[in-house]
Amino acid sequence: MKYTSTRDSSKIFTASEAIVKGISEDGGLIVPIEYPQVGLDFINVLGELDYPERAAEVLKLYMDEFDKEELLDYARKAYSRFDGDPCPVVKIDEMLFFMELWHGPTCAFKDMALTLMPYLLVASKKKIGRDDKTLILVATSGDTGKAALSGFQDVEGTEIIVFYPSEGVSEMQKLQMITQEGENVHVAGIKGNFDDAQTAVKAIFNDKTAIDTLAKLNITMSSANSINLGRLLPQVVYYFSAYTDMVTTGQIDLGDKVNFVVPTGNFGDILAGYYAYKMGLPVNKLIIASNQNNILTDFFHTGEYNVERKFYKTMSPSMDILISSNLERYLYDIFGRDSDQIAKIYADLKETGVFSVDLNKVDLSSGIFESGWADEEETKEIIGDYFDNYGYVMDPHTGVAASVYTDYCGETEDETKTIVLSTASPYKFPRDVYSAMGGTERDNYKCMSKIQFQSGLPCPESLYYLREKKIRHTTVVERDETLKAVMNFISDDNQE
Ligand SMILES: *Cc1c(COP(=O)(O)O)cnc(C)c1O
Repeated sequence: MKYTSTRDSSKIFTASEAIVKGISEDGGLIVPIEYPQVGLDFINVLGELDYPERAAEVLKLYMDEFDKEELLDYARKAYSRFDGDPCPVVKIDEMLFFMELWHGPTCAFKDMALTLMPYLLVASKKKIGRDDKTLILVATSGDTGKAALSGFQDVEGTEIIVFYPSEGVSEMQKLQMITQEGENVHVAGIKGNFDDAQTAVKAIFNDKTAIDTLAKLNITMSSANSINLGRLLPQVVYYFSAYTDMVTTGQIDLGDKVNFVVPTGNFGDILAGYYAYKMGLPVNKLIIASNQNNILTDFFHTGEYNVERKFYKTMSPSMDILISSNLERYLYDIFGRDSDQIAKIYADLKETGVFSVDLNKVDLSSGIFESGWADEEETKEIIGDYFDNYGYVMDPHTGVAASVYTDYCGETEDETKTIVLSTASPYKFPRDVYSAMGGTERDNYKCMSKIQFQSGLPCPESLYYLREKKIRHTTVVERDETLKAVMNFISDDNQE
């Protein structure tokens, strides 16, 4: 399998090159030249395998230069860090199922890829003969930062620096990051919101002086954000896994179609579902669920993508995003894989903050995407309803998806069995979840105890005992001091 850039089709990469690079030099995202095709027999066989084996089978289709045994070895190591099955499918009623993607070390779905990606990165570097140190720079709105720190902790040949918006993440998310252990990890707050952090980090990637200074120390920068192919591919696996579980448990017959509802921010998770569909997974609809930052809903309904709008801070912070990076990979398909058009669209977006697609000429949904959004009230209400009616507790991101699904059912009368992607443990957002369940307690840890007592869902120890962990990272920097902070972290390390 070969890969190319969404902004320059003359470029060709292997999977290893793509994972080491993260992004193409022209600013484009790296995409497969074609989607590997599988039949129902392939899906059927997956049903007999455990999750790491399923991962090896699916990833092998995208990564020629890796052996299946090698991929299986990495997947076994990665998913051994999960508490039980990495992707259990929970039945709510005859129609509705949740696939829970948060049983990993940091309790959010980012672990599904970020436990595995460090192995893929280290192996990819070997395969293309690189022995430099990789500096992973991350800007996070909450969940990616911790999952990346946990995944890259003490991984040979890597160093990781995470910047979080000092006022833009939840308390639990912040505590998870600033207590992170490891010899090669650094964490700093940036005064500002997520967009400020993201802009500051992006500027460093393109800073010539930074690149040259680091090169003299034999260090190259890379990214663990969801634009990296090493994040995207492991996410394709769980769509197959959930589907095949539905077959083996008799919920559907092999070949029946299902819907997936995906709480969406950067369009990474749902794009993985689109890849699974393009490979041959029987899918009826992929439903994009947004919170109040509903730019994607507007785009799919009107064809206009306009970032000049109000930014809302919501209780689903990992979806508080206006520029959904991975949408570019989908648009590349929509525009007939014409990289010149994509380059132009993104140049327009950069210049004017808006681009438009003519819905009379372009089939934006491909007949597969639906979209909707939920506000804060609706999200709270649905979390409360599901707890009251089914005894099921979900986090606010998942709540957004459940609310959008309810609207979708009301509008369409679609009777296809539906799987909602549950993306975080409710214990990551104890105060909002407990409040949605009707509680008035404000202390996070007391809320955890109450949720556990009322629902019976065990609270992950890694969250409950956070308050006893030593705080190790106290740096907070001004926006324009981000680069200086990176250089300080690096020089401290070189003196040790
Ligand atoms: C990151 C995240 C999302 C959004 O995923 P994207 O790939 O950015 O669309 C949804 N829910 C949770 C809990 C997340 O951490």
